Amino acid sequence: MQGGTDESDGDKLTLVTPLQYLPGMGAVRAQRFTRLGLRNAQDVIFLFPRDYEYPAPSGMVDSLEEGKPASLVGTVVDAEFVSRKPGKSMFAALVQNESGIVRMLFFNQPFRSDQLVVDQRVLMSGTPKLNGMRMEFVHPKVTLLDDAEDVPEPRILPVYPLTDGVKQSEVRRLVNETIERLAGDLVEVMPPSLRQEGADQLRKQGVDLRGDLVTIDVALRSLHQPDNPLALLAARTRLVFQELFVMQLALAMRRRQLTTDLHSPPLASSAMIDARIVNRFPFELTGDQKSVIGEISRDMSRQFPMNRLLQGDVGSGKTAVAIYAMMLAVANGHQAALMAPTEVLARQHYQTLTQTLTDSRVRVGLLCGSLSAGERRNEIESVAAGTTDLLVGTQALIYGGIDFKSLGLCVIDEQHKFGVAQRVALRSGGVDPHCLVMSATPIPRSIAMTLFGDVELSTLREKPPGRRKVNTYLAHDGWRDRWWGFVRDRIDEGRQVFVVAPRVSMTSTDDEAGEDVASVEAVFEDLCNGALADYRVELLHGRMHPDEKQSIMEAFSAGRIQVLVSTTVIEVGINIPNATVMTILGAQRFGLAQLHQLRGRVARGSHEGHVGVFTDGDDSPEENERLQVFEQTDDGFELSEADFRLRGPGDMLGRQQSGMPPMRIADLIRDQDVLVAARALAQSMIDEDPELSADGLSELRSQVMRRYGKRMNLGDVA
Ligand code: ADP
Ligand code: MG
Repeated sequence: MQGGTDESDGDKLTLVTPLQYLPGMGAVRAQRFTRLGLRNAQDVIFLFPRDYEYPAPSGMVDSLEEGKPASLVGTVVDAEFVSRKPGKSMFAALVQNESGIVRMLFFNQPFRSDQLVVDQRVLMSGTPKLNGMRMEFVHPKVTLLDDAEDVPEPRILPVYPLTDGVKQSEVRRLVNETIERLAGDLVEVMPPSLRQEGADQLRKQGVDLRGDLVTIDVALRSLHQPDNPLALLAARTRLVFQELFVMQLALAMRRRQLTTDLHSPPLASSAMIDARIVNRFPFELTGDQKSVIGEISRDMSRQFPMNRLLQGDVGSGKTAVAIYAMMLAVANGHQAALMAPTEVLARQHYQTLTQTLTDSRVRVGLLCGSLSAGERRNEIESVAAGTTDLLVGTQALIYGGIDFKSLGLCVIDEQHKFGVAQRVALRSGGVDPHCLVMSATPIPRSIAMTLFGDVELSTLREKPPGRRKVNTYLAHDGWRDRWWGFVRDRIDEGRQVFVVAPRVSMTSTDDEAGEDVASVEAVFEDLCNGALADYRVELLHGRMHPDEKQSIMEAFSAGRIQVLVSTTVIEVGINIPNATVMTILGAQRFGLAQLHQLRGRVARGSHEGHVGVFTDGDDSPEENERLQVFEQTDDGFELSEADFRLRGPGDMLGRQQSGMPPMRIADLIRDQDVLVAARALAQSMIDEDPELSADGLSELRSQVMRRYGKRMNLGDVA
């Protein structure tokens, strides 16, 4: 949302005039304001208010409500000191208008007796309270009015973000003066036809909008100095639309680029291939798995890359879908790569694949940190030679310049954090493999359209048959002993147990949390010497050597360890069907999605799962809204919606995670309708004019490129 010229001439104010030369600034002041991220005039104009102060509605006495801000115009009809004690004075005045009488009360403001004399007209505002039969305003804001004077129009005031040493009134003044002088210089990226089409699309989505979208200067003036709520709404709509529209144009360009500029090997299926693959599974695929496989097979048969996100709750059977897709690549004579977020998970996938493919000619390779240099070199060579058909590894390793003979498909597992930027990185290796991203954290459509805006979405809603219920219990006071007794009973029945805590050790410095936070080291000590002293308990956390982690996971998997005390390294994907009990400590420190992932670990076998949820410090699990939701629903989609409601989408749209710039004014949950409208218009424009080369669009086009060109690799369109 930028515009402007690049040359600055000494005297005249322009959009690029540095902060210190703006009216009333100077070097010292400007220094303080830079902490708000302001460098020049344009930044000032684009400093969006974070909120507004609305004038209290001017009221009639009989419509006043206790506790509700209001303002009134009236005449003082009586005024007196109720008490004159120095330091304890109390002054009261009665104000009357045609609708009735209210009382004003002032403590220790004796000067009020000079202002508020009988017959003085006043405008007062404040929050009334009922005192006896009469509404009373204590210390209202008072404006003295001449008899004839019109009541000043109450204004909506912008509230700006502040920083040390910068006052709200100073920011307001700076913004006002800057916009007065420079609003006319702003570059309009949306010509009249677009402002009209945008408005039409918005109305189609049910957005309340009169007339066309307003011009950029009107929008910014009204955003900073709104005449009324409608003008403010119109301004915001225009700016939100622009922000989302520019993003959606970039995404539409990118989608187009993927289908026209990139070339992938078509990897077609056939009845024979399909039967051969399906026969490898020890189970019947669910209906959802079959239909997603249908979508994937269609995508992969094309000559441009599949770019698909597969969402499915923990345990919905995403891996089987991935295996199908990989085998389809191999059946067509190409290689496939499967990338996991952790080494433990990579090894597990490797095992699943080798099992599924026993007695076949398909060769599966594993690339992970604990390989010796020699093993690693061998693996890389056999990938390059094409003897390895399927390569499993962590993302870091596979990105690291591996040379495939002919990579046909890339599967990225458990990666909701995986955004546009990373996928671009994957593609820049000279080949354009088909790409399947899998995520167990379902995200609302509007977020998906942003974060994964160039991606098709598939969803597994149905769970494979035979899944057991997981019972979730929020711990009550004094519940610990009972819980550990329950845990011992389950171990005695032959089950295995996870205990999860938020951090590694009491002395961790990687966390600003206080002493109260449960650490796996402390918990491990406690359990070994206490509640679980008679059992085989082991410790697992991310700081351990990969070999050590690996051997502990293997021992747990083989049942030689009964209790695994660990950090969230076990969060993703680990599959140990006999582990059916989980204790989560310090649960308030985990997000809902993470808790749900953790819970998914004990829902994998034929026995019922049990999760005990504890918090540390003074937080009670029963008072934590997130944990209550967690106890009440076991559906990942419902949880994720609740999570967005409770926390907002910020976490997911964090810049590091998604590779997308943060939204400056749009709110992806609140502005979903605008997003849909922006996407529709963007798509139809790019369909007609893929490079935005029509007359009048050059400013728009350069804004798209400036904001998204590099991030989305739109370079060759430029
Ligand atoms: P996730 O979606 O969490 O990655 P997985 O693919 O690991 O789930 O599947 C969870 C478990 O369900 C695995 O043990 C897998 O073998 C099993 N599974 C997957 N699909 C089916 C099916 N159609 N019928 C029965 N079991 C299945
Ligand atoms: Mg999985």
